Amino acid sequence: MKLAAGTNKLAKTTAPVVIAGPCSAESEEQMLQTALGLKKLQSVSIFRAGIWKPRTRPGSFQGVGTVGLEWLRTVKQETGLRTACEVANADHVAEALKHEVDILLIGAHTTVNSFLVQEIADAVKGVDIPVLVKNPVSPDLLLWIGALERFNNSGISDLGVIHRGFSTIDNAPYRNHPKWDHVAELKSQLPDLPVYCDASHIAGRRSLLRPVSQRAIDLGYDGLMVETHHNPVKALSDPHQQLMPPELDMLLQALNMQGNDPEEARSVVLQEEWRKEIEYLDDELMDLLARRTALSEKLGTNRQGNSSEAEEAWDQVLENLLLQANSFGMNKEFVKTVFQEVRKQYAQTHLYCDMGA
Ligand code: PEP
Ligand code: MN
Repeated sequence: MKLAAGTNKLAKTTAPVVIAGPCSAESEEQMLQTALGLKKLQSVSIFRAGIWKPRTRPGSFQGVGTVGLEWLRTVKQETGLRTACEVANADHVAEALKHEVDILLIGAHTTVNSFLVQEIADAVKGVDIPVLVKNPVSPDLLLWIGALERFNNSGISDLGVIHRGFSTIDNAPYRNHPKWDHVAELKSQLPDLPVYCDASHIAGRRSLLRPVSQRAIDLGYDGLMVETHHNPVKALSDPHQQLMPPELDMLLQALNMQGNDPEEARSVVLQEEWRKEIEYLDDELMDLLARRTALSEKLGTNRQGNSSEAEEAWDQVLENLLLQANSFGMNKEFVKTVFQEVRKQYAQTHLYCDMGA
């Protein structure tokens, strides 16, 4: 894919672009108070607010809808900040354009749906508006690129992406696990594409905002998105990850905006990925061991034949495993020790020597 020509206004110039604002628009007062607080911060140039909220379960706050766009317009008039909101279908696009929203965001739950992305791309055809596409909830690079292609085909030249992390079964320590290497792969395929980091949806908690944001800056990201609310504890969505404007100011001041050594950042990122992968493999190993134990116990209690036959069978099994060790590039002694331990454990729990399983 080749990006549409033109200078992309989403790319950073001297310092990363900062998008801030509440997870959700809740009231005109909340929007204005937050925006006026943000206006005092030199580095914030874009005000975001969720108008329609994709929610996991029915009954949670679904966003205020179109009235929020009126408040967003008031924020623009009162503060001069550019505005951004998420759109998830063609009607949202029409409403957002009518209310002069400056930047459209495509949420992670929308990027996964090619019908919706196409509908939105058709709705912005011929419109000169920047679009930032969040990664889909699971790490599927082609799906993400596919969404970008749809906007590219609609002639959107100010196109960028937002890394907001990926869903995993656990959410520790991050709410959405960052995959910096995955985004680096996207960037290597599309080097001119501006990349932003939604530190709030990766972190999920205030304490992780700083390391996540610094990592993004070290890796050369073009911008940060940080959810901000004048009174986060009262927020109707994502209360644990939002900062008050003065807290955002402190965060931004604490960051090294020039970025630390990118090589070092890349190597730390790789190590983190590998550590995560090892954790996952350890879980798999545990699951396999438990399943093997359960099966060998079943076999032990229903065994036919004598223990010397079982012994021979086991020797054969071990021999095959050691042959496999070669082709897997594994140390034979290590493989032997592991399987002998597994077998010994089985024998101990059964208190007899019929160890053929
Ligand atoms: C948001 O930005 O408030 C939001 C819902 O984001 P995401 O699409 O990353 O879940
Ligand atoms: Mn949010």
